Amino acid sequence: MHEMSLAEGVLGVVQDAARAHHPCAVRTVRLEIGELAAVELDALRFAFEVVKRGSVAEDAQLEIVRVPGSAWCMQCSRSVSIAGRGEPCPGCGGWQLQVTNGEQMRVKELELA
Ligand SMILES: [Zn+2]
Repeated sequence: MHEMSLAEGVLGVVQDAARAHHPCAVRTVRLEIGELAAVELDALRFAFEVVKRGSVAEDAQLEIVRVPGSAWCMQCSRSVSIAGRGEPCPGCGGWQLQVTNGEQMRVKELELA
């Protein structure tokens, strides 16, 4: 399951950050996930519940912030929003799109106890 390795990656980032700040437990992990990222949110939440056991993030809540997808349309010469990968431009119906946002997944913020 691809979400399991994503969750392990998230935990790795959290553990590094917690180590740098000494004491503590992690209260909240805020993740930013683009709407175009191929991530199954429920699977990711589940995977995180599994990997966080026994770690500094054991009691952490996972908060997920979605980032809408956007792309640059070469025909319209402007940025347009798209709901998914492989969608045509909502302006002209064309396919000459370059995705500019919404594919990322990153740890945005941590709340430490
Ligand atoms: Zn267009």
